[in-house]
Amino acid sequence: MADLAKLTIADARDMLRAGEVTSRRITEDCLTAIEQAGALNAFVTVTADKALAMADAADQRREAGDDSDLLGIPIGIKDVYCTDGVRSQAASKILDRFTPAYESTVTAQLWEAGAVMLGKLNMDEFAMGSSNENSVYGPCISPWRRAGDDAPITPGGSSGGSAAAVAADLCLASTGTDTGGSIRQPAAFTGTVGIKPTYGRCSRWGVIAYASSLDQAGPFAKTVRDAAIMLRAMAGHDPKDSTSADLPVPDFEAVLKGDLRGKRIGIPTEYREGLGEEIAGLWSRGADMLRDAGAEVVDISLPHTKYALPAYYIIAPAEASSNLARYDGVRYGHRADLHQGEGIVDMYRKTRAEGFGREVRRRIMIGTYVLSAGYYDAYYLQAQKVRSLIKRDFDQAFAEVDAILAPTAPTPAFALGEMQSDPVEMYLQDVFTITVNLAGLPGITVPLEVGGQGLPLGLQLIGQPWGEANLLDAAYALESRASFAAKPDRWW
Ligand code: GLN
Repeated sequence: MADLAKLTIADARDMLRAGEVTSRRITEDCLTAIEQAGALNAFVTVTADKALAMADAADQRREAGDDSDLLGIPIGIKDVYCTDGVRSQAASKILDRFTPAYESTVTAQLWEAGAVMLGKLNMDEFAMGSSNENSVYGPCISPWRRAGDDAPITPGGSSGGSAAAVAADLCLASTGTDTGGSIRQPAAFTGTVGIKPTYGRCSRWGVIAYASSLDQAGPFAKTVRDAAIMLRAMAGHDPKDSTSADLPVPDFEAVLKGDLRGKRIGIPTEYREGLGEEIAGLWSRGADMLRDAGAEVVDISLPHTKYALPAYYIIAPAEASSNLARYDGVRYGHRADLHQGEGIVDMYRKTRAEGFGREVRRRIMIGTYVLSAGYYDAYYLQAQKVRSLIKRDFDQAFAEVDAILAPTAPTPAFALGEMQSDPVEMYLQDVFTITVNLAGLPGITVPLEVGGQGLPLGLQLIGQPWGEANLLDAAYALESRASFAAKPDRWW
């Protein structure tokens, strides 16, 4: 039994401080849990030796008097983060066995804070997807199953491995990235907490780029408190990322009181459109919980919501097509075999055709199209204008309210293969999350209850720019009232 892997960061921290346990023991339990969870396909690279060495170093640091929050806490890292000397290929064949010679800023800060790296986590290729089915490693499987049904369920995406690993207690917390919902949606699907901070809160340096104006790093955790502890270590100014903000990082944990008296929470009426009964019910129970915590809950309007999805699916592929132009078979990973008489252009073509998966190729083509002469104004420029209007909707709403309560995803987790017939079906998963990326705002998912199918359901809180402290506090209020404690039945 790998019991210590089930700990929260806060509990592990207390036990470590009291000398009741060592980082080595917690780390060993996590490695055992990972070894037994091969069926989930959450960890795609396990760095066992490195983890034990880091755990021992953490135990020594503690003996020398260091008692930092994350000292000795074992975590997993999404495969999209570059980690020095450890395979980092964003779940793509084109980055086959790519082993960076440098460390991303966010992971460097986590190691500096004393966290222990267990390995790399599965994801959709280049973070494009909502189900983790677009991965060169094969899909990640959720530890959750529908009641009385053993069909494999998606943990969500793109950070599916990060969510599944935390939900299945393979690690105490993990890192993800969120370009259009990839932290918040998998958190909702797996009964975990996931926060996407304000754009610019965490450095993007060393995180393999998808859509640079939307990408943000953030943590997955078992509780809001743990998410606060992780985020504090991950955030901060980095001169190597020109979009990272030079702002102080508050002690997010210290603000957690859960008292919302005097606070106003907005309910965007446009998000009600076409919403199924189960998620609508969940949403109104969430609103009741916030009222119970003292908040006044009011309707607000975000009138440009219906244009967000099409705008996102122009802007994100446009940036992706540009970012992914660098993968040409010359410097990184995969290179196609050439036949006699084939030249460098054939090499580029074949490498890119072989190296990128279907969804990534689709996005590169869409992106190239919307940026091409003659279409740029009609699509890309238009989408940028919509983006400004969406941002303005939120600015106006935040003149009235302190935070916004919304669904995270329109449905509970679905089974593998269930959303494969039409790519637009999958894109619709992102309808409540992408607005937040387009506006650069922080958003958090809090698990609330187990739904009718036996799968966890979560809600999203959206905060003001740089308002992660207040946002986490509102999430804490929701968490305290929901008292979600369900765990998946172990089948793996
Ligand atoms: N599902 C969205 C997409 O495929 C968002 C992914 C993400 O946030 N990385 O683009």
